[in-house]
Amino acid sequence: MDIITSEDKKNQTSKADLEELRNSILKEIEKVLRSAECERILLLIHEGKNLSEKETHLVNLRTIILEATTRSLLTETGYQGSKLLCVCGCKAKFVRYDDKSYNLLVGRVDLKRALYQCQGCGRYWRPLDDKWELPEGHNSEGVERVTALLGAYMPFESAEKVLLETSGVSLSDSSIRAISESIGADIESIIEVEIGKSLNDELPEPEAEIMAVFSDGTMVNTREEQWKEVKVGAVASFTRTGEKQLKLNQTTYTAYLGAVEDFKPRLWAEGYRRGAAGKEATLFLGDGSVWVWNLADELFPHAIQVLDYWHLCENVWKASHIIFTDEEEKRSWVEEITENMLRKGKIQEAIDAIKSASTGKKDAQEAVETLVGYIVNNKGRINYPVLESKGYPIGSGIIESACKRIVGARHKQSGMRWSKSGVQKMLSLVSFIHSKRWDEYWKYLRKTA
Ligand SMILES: [Zn+2]
Repeated sequence: MDIITSEDKKNQTSKADLEELRNSILKEIEKVLRSAECERILLLIHEGKNLSEKETHLVNLRTIILEATTRSLLTETGYQGSKLLCVCGCKAKFVRYDDKSYNLLVGRVDLKRALYQCQGCGRYWRPLDDKWELPEGHNSEGVERVTALLGAYMPFESAEKVLLETSGVSLSDSSIRAISESIGADIESIIEVEIGKSLNDELPEPEAEIMAVFSDGTMVNTREEQWKEVKVGAVASFTRTGEKQLKLNQTTYTAYLGAVEDFKPRLWAEGYRRGAAGKEATLFLGDGSVWVWNLADELFPHAIQVLDYWHLCENVWKASHIIFTDEEEKRSWVEEITENMLRKGKIQEAIDAIKSASTGKKDAQEAVETLVGYIVNNKGRINYPVLESKGYPIGSGIIESACKRIVGARHKQSGMRWSKSGVQKMLSLVSFIHSKRWDEYWKYLRKTA
């Protein structure tokens, strides 16, 4: 005797359900395969002269078959009989079916959605909208996700072409801009919430042995005020792998177009989120701009401040061009001052050597004074032998590449001019993606702020 358990029954039902789904897909695909459009495509594939010609038409075949599959699977309307109970307790009446088309990554689909109206409170609603969490616009989350990702990496006009070529989704460059900026605005509000959280508490547990904060500025061309500085911050974590060796784990970014005062809470929030107080040490690297050190003093007073070695070299080079004429002389002087003296901690020796290089001419004298002033002002931040003996970074390459990737690559291509509010949304979108927070955004953060 067969004993049918409830588990078996469940399996049987789902098997029957599956069979029904299979049949409805087959029916819909058969309809498509027999359509005039499909006949035309099949002929073109058949007559295609080479693989590439056949491929072009195969892509079209894929689209119509995928759309047929989608159609056969998304038949639900949310219709629950002619009468339905409203949240207010009164009865609601079925009014009509509303049609709406959606762009999905698998093609366009038309959904029929039952509309009800409550006879008590007068409320209208479509049960399917709530059940399937249908978007307000015409694009699915998948389409928005791909679109914004493309918008973050390339000009909107290029994104339009890539989107169409790779996914078959046709959206105008202005729609791509709108989607990218609206996700950027959503990320902006998440940042606001994170700033709020960071103002209350002590720094959380650090996530690594060594944390480093970087800050720098770079210009973008705005419609309202021409070239304006974007301030960029990066927070990096390192693990110790040897006496003089560190491994870079993760770097996250923040970027803001505007005053230092408004950038400050953003940099702090990012440091706070990452636990920017390393168990072993916290570093703050900068190029020598006064606003950067003021930020460091105020936000991370416990951090070891480090002047970017390459900026220091650049300044020595700048002076050499004014003091010397012979290229070989310049090169050997710069190498002596930087590699042999400053990098080895012989700061006073370097200052003496720079002073003695002055030719007595006015511009040479000025160059010497400026360089000596720069070194004296940053004296506490150029203890390179000690830093290097522990494997700490002495160059701010991380922030320079951040400026290039987050601001330069997307916001400074030739002829680009941005509205101030538009560029800020895009900066936040691009920073989030480069911080590897994109998945986190779609899984947990979206529309929660
Ligand atoms: Zn009601």
